[in-house]
Amino acid sequence: MQTSVWEKIILAILMLVAIGLFLQPFLHRVKRVAMGRGELHYDRLGERIARWIREVLFQGTVIAGRTNAGWAHALVFWAFCVFLLETADLFARMFGSPVGILGNGLFHHFYQAIVAVFAVFALGGIIYLIIRRFYIRPPALGDKPSYTSAVVADFIAYLMVTYILGAFVMNEEGLAFKINAWLHIIVIMCFIVIIPRSKHLHLLLSLFTTFFKDFELVAIKPLNIDFEDEDADEEDMYLGAEKFTDLGKYTILCSFTCVECGRCWDNCPARITGKQLDPKQFMLNLRDVYLTEPEREISADDRFSEVIWQCTTCGACTFQCPVGIDHPLPMLEMRRGYVANSVFPDAMRPLFDNLESTGNPWNYQPTDAAEFLAENEFPEFEGDKKVLYWVGCMGRFDDYYRKVSIAFKKLLDASGVDYGVLLDETCTGDAARRAGNEFLFQMLAEGNIETLNEANPNVIVSTCPHCLRTLEEYKEMGLKKEIRMVHHTEYLMELINDGSLKLNGKVSTDVTYHDACYLSRYSDDKGYIDPRHLLEKTGVELKEPERRKRKSFCCGAGGAMLFAEETEGTRIDHERVEELVRTGALECATSCPFCQLMIRDGLGDKGKEDMPVKDIAEILVESLPG
Ligand code: SF4
Ligand code: SF4
Repeated sequence: MQTSVWEKIILAILMLVAIGLFLQPFLHRVKRVAMGRGELHYDRLGERIARWIREVLFQGTVIAGRTNAGWAHALVFWAFCVFLLETADLFARMFGSPVGILGNGLFHHFYQAIVAVFAVFALGGIIYLIIRRFYIRPPALGDKPSYTSAVVADFIAYLMVTYILGAFVMNEEGLAFKINAWLHIIVIMCFIVIIPRSKHLHLLLSLFTTFFKDFELVAIKPLNIDFEDEDADEEDMYLGAEKFTDLGKYTILCSFTCVECGRCWDNCPARITGKQLDPKQFMLNLRDVYLTEPEREISADDRFSEVIWQCTTCGACTFQCPVGIDHPLPMLEMRRGYVANSVFPDAMRPLFDNLESTGNPWNYQPTDAAEFLAENEFPEFEGDKKVLYWVGCMGRFDDYYRKVSIAFKKLLDASGVDYGVLLDETCTGDAARRAGNEFLFQMLAEGNIETLNEANPNVIVSTCPHCLRTLEEYKEMGLKKEIRMVHHTEYLMELINDGSLKLNGKVSTDVTYHDACYLSRYSDDKGYIDPRHLLEKTGVELKEPERRKRKSFCCGAGGAMLFAEETEGTRIDHERVEELVRTGALECATSCPFCQLMIRDGLGDKGKEDMPVKDIAEILVESLPG
């Protein structure tokens, strides 16, 4: 195709205008990201790149969350990728290069054939997405139809059609080909202008959010407050977010990346049970703040003050988000800011007071725990023992959950493990940290870190995923990094595999299993695989609930919500127990003290107290030979 000098000049002007119109809002957002606290992380580079390839190039999370819409998006994304070279080639030719960048030989024809195949698939994908968004209209996408989505979808469809016509139907020397090429180019320019002004900026920013996101869900950053340091500057005395610019750069980047797909909306237990918290709207509200008044005080904006206290930190939103957004992190950072100013829900007051005075959330006397451990002959961790059994507050104090501690002890004894418990264990501070009281958390953590470093175990095993997660967090605060934290289900599976623990497999009942968020979602695949293997070994028949494994539904207790009142909507544990009851199972198995308590309470409220709730360790004990 021949182009005149005037055509080349017009093309150059159009390009400069489009790039200018792109850069103005784009750089505005980049400056906003730079206003955030901390840095963007790029440690563990190899793992980050591998994850990026999996999640971005192969569209792993996009497809896993919603199969049909996920595939449709993936097809459009892959078409975009292969179109890049072909588009560059078209521009080169319009600027006068006779061979473009792909040449005129066989390779270019071959490449055009590949692009055409992707164009057809992308066309199918975009038609499906148009039908879904504008005719099916799932509630997660919101009440109002998005007009920019309509324009962008039309643009994409148009680009695919004009490409196929230009490459395979039209004569390259004809006028129709030239008009088609110009229309194609003008649509691309319009696209470039629309992108930074709409949610379609995710096309670019998600490349960065998925790269920079933490490896762990809701990875809270330690503050390491030193109140005795007289040289401490303002940064050292930072206690939590009071202004929106106190939130991290990554959070600000996330707010501009949200594609408004509503997967977080679909999966949030707080939203589902009718509370104000809607993680999607939370992110969109943050975006609004950063585009308008980023220096504003958080407490001056009532779109945030209530909802941040409704999050259970279950991570369902973050886990499902296709563009790597972490919603609970800014909520916890805001809680820190509120607590630093002594503003928090009244229900948190006893939690803080009890942790401060007796080192456990319910104000039990530490001597109660010592008596329980002595009466039941728990061995003390001493000498050169390697395995430390972290019993946890519920395991030491709660009458019902003490049965789980005894059951797990029986299994350890039956396996011949040389283990011990700490007689002076105090709460890990999980709830204090998630409730935003970093100072109290740090106080508890420092004591535990000192005790644990002195005890020097190789392995800490616990029945509580919340304790384990918090103990893992201690490693950023001075706990020896070599200590392995392992949940009792994983540890018991190892004991079975190495032949130390033998079961008779004769428990004959139907059991449904409730996956704990901090085990199934926060940890790797073992977190949901091992509990099921263990149940299988006992002989029970497993009846799975609809929401399970990594997509499990929260019990409502995490994020310190065990200690708060659910004042809005219905109870999260009620929603969950209804689903568990629907399985028709006779018993419910759990693997977390919080879950066990919530599910038991929920079943009681629903008049289903005849459905026993047992920890997996208790079911394993029933399967011990003899
Ligand atoms: S962590 Fe759970 S409760 Fe909190 S916003 Fe996300 S989905 Fe909702
Ligand atoms: S935060 Fe993520 S999951 Fe939620 S609407 Fe935005 S892109 Fe979708």
